[in-house]
Amino acid sequence: MRLPWGRKVGWGRLKCAIEIAYYLTIFPYRQSENDMTNQEVLIAGAGPVGLSAAMALASAGIRVRVFELENQLIDDPRATTFHPPTLDMLEPYGVSSVMVQKGILCPHWQIRWHPSGERAVFDVSVLQNDTKHPYRLQCEQTVLSQALLDRLLTMPEVSVEFGAAVQQVSQDETGASVTFDREGRTETIRGAWVIGADGAHSAVRKSLGLEFEGSVYPETNLIATVRFPFEDHLEGLSNVSYCWRDGGNFSLLRVRDVWRVAIYPLADKTIEEQLTPESIEAALQHIVPQSQPYKVLALRAYRAHQRMVSKYRVGRVFLAGDAAHLTSPTGGMGLNGGVHDALNLAEKLIAVMRQGAPESLLDRYERQRRPVVQDAIIAQSHANRARMRELDPEKRRASLRALQEICADRDKLYKHMLNTSMISGLRQAAQVE
Ligand SMILES: Cc1cc2nc3c(=O)[nH]c(=O)nc-3n(C[C@H](O)[C@H](O)[C@H](O)COP(=O)(O)OP(=O)(O)OC[C@H]3O[C@@H](n4cnc5c(N)ncnc54)[C@H](O)[C@@H]3O)c2cc1C
Repeated sequence: MRLPWGRKVGWGRLKCAIEIAYYLTIFPYRQSENDMTNQEVLIAGAGPVGLSAAMALASAGIRVRVFELENQLIDDPRATTFHPPTLDMLEPYGVSSVMVQKGILCPHWQIRWHPSGERAVFDVSVLQNDTKHPYRLQCEQTVLSQALLDRLLTMPEVSVEFGAAVQQVSQDETGASVTFDREGRTETIRGAWVIGADGAHSAVRKSLGLEFEGSVYPETNLIATVRFPFEDHLEGLSNVSYCWRDGGNFSLLRVRDVWRVAIYPLADKTIEEQLTPESIEAALQHIVPQSQPYKVLALRAYRAHQRMVSKYRVGRVFLAGDAAHLTSPTGGMGLNGGVHDALNLAEKLIAVMRQGAPESLLDRYERQRRPVVQDAIIAQSHANRARMRELDPEKRRASLRALQEICADRDKLYKHMLNTSMISGLRQAAQVE
């Protein structure tokens, strides 16, 4: 064969030259494409925890693929309370300012006896030297998820895939794979590491065959979203107020121009009786009687659990957030703790993937987070629930007196607020090697 510049070559030589060109150009490209895939982190679940992990990883230049079962972000009425350290930790990603803008500051919260209005008021500003956000923020969790998603969609390292239902995970020494269903087709994608942030019913956790030990609380709780100015009718009300009433309790949680009323069931009525519109109306009228019926914008019933997964890490697969632990919402710690998981884990993955840290560092994630979740989140939330579910007036009175004493003493209040604002737990975790 004659080449364009006139020289004659045999077919054998030409074939050899083509092969060399292939190995010098295309093969290295394909090789690096594989390496890139193996450097990807795969995340199951685009809830606030999965998206927080994605944000931290992508901000460090790590490629991330998020698989979400639903076709859009979930928007059901769940978390509203964000604690100071969570806002501090999310600030570098530009989402805390969005939440502050869309939420409502809660410089104090209270435990209150209804209808007398006797109360213990917890001043969060006592933490002003420990946080840039010395308040609780009342803001729907979907605001956080949406703010994270909006930023993630502008980052070239990230792909968020909706309508992708993760079924199982598998792994070997060099990588981990996620198998998911999308539009009736099953696909498997391989990456370096997998994070299961797919909520309470986590498919990742089930695929790993891990126990989710714990129990479910007996009562069914109700959350009614109501447009009514409770603050104008209940003197000195805080934007987060946990209230005892005769024979029961309720919470008032303000979110901008509406209140979430958590109605805890009465012992002398069945759940079915308490779920009727008449019962909801009666519960609201008991809080503030008014001639008009209440306008209930949304209603949600739920059962609370206290559970913890038996392992946070299995090889190249990790669990975080509700996939790893569940707790009573009283005190607002479940989601906050999940975000703390996500950012703790992301920090270690970044050290391993970007800074050459040994993979054994990843075991520290479980060593740091598991005891804190057990001792400072599940135990504290359980104690909060038990205190508010107490029916004995004498025990309630003693409890209120003790809390008022704490609030009146700045040093005691400071210690109490370090615990209830989740700062102590994070400091305790940071000490664990
Ligand atoms: C009434 C109520 C009030 C609460 N209030 C507070 C509060 O004030 N403060 C607080 O800190 N916590 C609170 N919590 C807890 C908080 O809502 C949860 O801890 C939080 O939602 C956990 O976030 P997550 O991302 O881990 O899980 P989720 O929010 O459940 O997100 C998991 C995501 O994974 C997706 N998914 C599920 N299965 C799959 C699958 N197989 N494949 C792909 N994707 C999947 C889901 O669709 C979802 O988008 C409250 C909970 C309740 C019920």
